Amino acid sequence: MNLCVIGAGVVGLTTALQLQREFRNAAVTIVADRFEQDTCSDVAAGLFRPGTSFSGPTEEMTRKWISDAYQYWDEIRKTEESSEAGVAQLSGYIFSSTDPSIVRNHYIEKIVPVYRPVAEKELTLCPGEWKYGSFFTTLLTECRLFQPWATKKFLLSGGRIITDKISSFQELNGQYDVVVNCTGLGAKKLCQDYKLVPIRGQVIKVKASWVKTAFYADYDTYIIPGFQGVTLGGCRNFDSYNVNPCKYDSAAIRERCETLLPSLKGAPVIREAVGLRPHRDPVRVETEFIASASGRLKVVHNYGHGGYGVTTAPGTAIHAAQLVADVLKSNSKL
Ligand SMILES: Cc1cc2nc3c(=O)[nH]c(=O)nc-3n(C[C@H](O)[C@H](O)[C@H](O)COP(=O)(O)OP(=O)(O)OC[C@H]3O[C@@H](n4cnc5c(N)ncnc54)[C@H](O)[C@@H]3O)c2cc1C
Repeated sequence: MNLCVIGAGVVGLTTALQLQREFRNAAVTIVADRFEQDTCSDVAAGLFRPGTSFSGPTEEMTRKWISDAYQYWDEIRKTEESSEAGVAQLSGYIFSSTDPSIVRNHYIEKIVPVYRPVAEKELTLCPGEWKYGSFFTTLLTECRLFQPWATKKFLLSGGRIITDKISSFQELNGQYDVVVNCTGLGAKKLCQDYKLVPIRGQVIKVKASWVKTAFYADYDTYIIPGFQGVTLGGCRNFDSYNVNPCKYDSAAIRERCETLLPSLKGAPVIREAVGLRPHRDPVRVETEFIASASGRLKVVHNYGHGGYGVTTAPGTAIHAAQLVADVLKSNSKL
């Protein structure tokens, strides 16, 4: 059996690994035009924290994706390979001066080991007029480490990787039993999906080894320590295709983060990065049969994770692999 995954970001890689796990006798191929440091996934801070507006087709399904994903990352965290894979536990604070709902997260409050309201005293940890706050312990996946680790694992299990840009699913016609589409924002053209919108994000990675706690605050301000520096963010520019760092965004990010955590002043910059989050409401995980010269091309879509693809990729990968199994079963009945 031949299975193909288009896309080598965190969604494509977790999906390809899941297919290898589920279909032991299948030959799995990844086809992508960009890898590792050229993907949106590489820009992510990688904190396990879905936004409260993140949504799959149903609330039940969304929650299942999130809990399956947490379990997946947590299993890696507990192995000897966790540092190589870039997965670790991380705790942090979220503060708001405007609304108590901002510091809550109905998706993960019952999944992560700690999610509690802060004590009055903790509201004074960072400068600012903070009225509301939560402290939580969650996971972090640094894609700069995870993607090479996952690629190695995929190849060691017999996977094949092809560098190519797919302009139409028809190009793959006749080569694979099922194609899984994990092209992120690339699906906008490939599927002519007008629901898919880029939400541009910019981050600054700095050297600040003393920062061991994550901080989130109003106006998209975040400070997230990782394996290779601390990520300072951010911004969300709806429908923006600008992939270049903007000096005004950099200045705003630095100012907001340094105000929140003054010890960051003067922390040397490792790099600045921009990513276009592939936002779609709802995230698309579904099967499509596309008419082709030799019958029907079977495609399972898995894209549109927006700002939460690192968090949720393993969950939607499990769902996508289940849809592949369903398609193959229905094949055998034809
Ligand atoms: C600043 C920023 C911070 C973020 N922080 C977090 C965070 O803390 N936590 C979190 O969970 N998420 C975070 N995200 C979101 C996360 O990065 C994305 O949700 C995730 O990377 C999407 O993964 P993906 O695999 O769908 O897309 P990508 O990583 O963009 O990968 C898409 C893949 O598809 C391939 N492709 C596309 N079109 C084609 C084609 N036509 N032919 C062949 N190949 C194709 C590309 O080459 C690439 O390999 C952040 C994003 C940004 C920008």
